[in-house]
Amino acid sequence: MLLLLTWHILITSVQATPPPPPPPPSPNLTDILHNPEASPNTLLIDTFLHQDVNDLGHWHGPLEGLTVHHSPGFVRFFPSDPDHNYHTQLSASSCFDLRPYQPTHFLHIVFSGTTKFSIFLNQNNPACNFTRNPFPQTSDVVEAARYARGNDIYIPLAHFQIDQTRAVSVSFGGFYSLEPLTLYRIEIVPSIPVGFPVPHRMNNGRLVLTCSRPGSFAFGIDDGQPRFAQEVMKILEEERVLVTFFVVGLGLRDRDTNFSNVYREMIKRGHQIALHSDTHRKMEGLASTADIDREIVENIKSFRQILGIETHYFRPPFGTLGARTRQRLANFITDPQVITWSVDIEDWLWADSKTPEKQREAFFRDVMHGGNLAVMHFLSPTTVGYFREVIQFVKGQNKSIMRIDQCLGDPRSPPLKYPVH
Ligand SMILES: [Zn+2]
Repeated sequence: MLLLLTWHILITSVQATPPPPPPPPSPNLTDILHNPEASPNTLLIDTFLHQDVNDLGHWHGPLEGLTVHHSPGFVRFFPSDPDHNYHTQLSASSCFDLRPYQPTHFLHIVFSGTTKFSIFLNQNNPACNFTRNPFPQTSDVVEAARYARGNDIYIPLAHFQIDQTRAVSVSFGGFYSLEPLTLYRIEIVPSIPVGFPVPHRMNNGRLVLTCSRPGSFAFGIDDGQPRFAQEVMKILEEERVLVTFFVVGLGLRDRDTNFSNVYREMIKRGHQIALHSDTHRKMEGLASTADIDREIVENIKSFRQILGIETHYFRPPFGTLGARTRQRLANFITDPQVITWSVDIEDWLWADSKTPEKQREAFFRDVMHGGNLAVMHFLSPTTVGYFREVIQFVKGQNKSIMRIDQCLGDPRSPPLKYPVH
């Protein structure tokens, strides 16, 4: 099974959908070319003739519960969540080299319906292997609305800043409208119709799922229950490890929780504190950029006023991401580091179930598959109960546990507090 981006949502079955209206006329690829110097090679990726494979013979399909209606020649999405997404793969599971199409070519998409979504170009892991974590390793993303005119979208491939030798799929997600989207054609073309406007590339936050420092491992710990904070702190002290806490502005301002004192103490002990939005909503799904901005700005303000710190590091609530969130982060933060994960303890799934030990299994499995940057929370006694064991498991793999900024070799990070073993 191909699990490309498994966020906090369970995959649900595809529902029946009403019959779709006919597709629009095929695109008018004018013979007067915008860039006559470009090499003429075109790569046809997907015309949606088949249910499960694209024109390259590789998998395409929905993930995270997106409802789709497929008919030969098009696919229609009925998104209701920004985490919904649809991938069409450039290679079976390995790496596709886009260099022959660089820097001149464009990703061309023929569509109808909403433009309120993001288009991702996903990069495979260094092993070019979908059984290794993370898969994909990272992505770059643009806003469909900025590139769309009529039924066409043309995006310069150069606007996607990924390792061009390791492309693995094009995907669609980050929906912020309930309006359907229909796709008819995805291809890479050497030129665009004369006069078709191409916007400038917008700066955005770098998406990070893994530690890059050799032999390193990091825990990114999100939301917690104040009553477990002392226990977490005790385990961290005794195990002599530093971690990164992603902290929500609202919780920090809440005087009833004592979180301001908890995180002041964490800072004193050397842990990293990083942004996690103001009210913990799926930011990419918010209707306006003003709403997204508020989540970022108020979180930054609370850090300044209550903790007296600034940070470049951010983790999106639920891991939900799209072009707008990453762009707005770059608007307020220099060189933002957008951190998700490659090890998921799956506490959101198992912590309060009848089989809490599945958290341990999930953690071990992801580490054995090559993951080295974890996500967990301290919301449940079962998760906190496994915390020491998973730390010791990582140490047993000869990994050095450190803060996320340290595991990325960030020159702004403090020196390691504990010796590397
Ligand atoms: Zn969270």
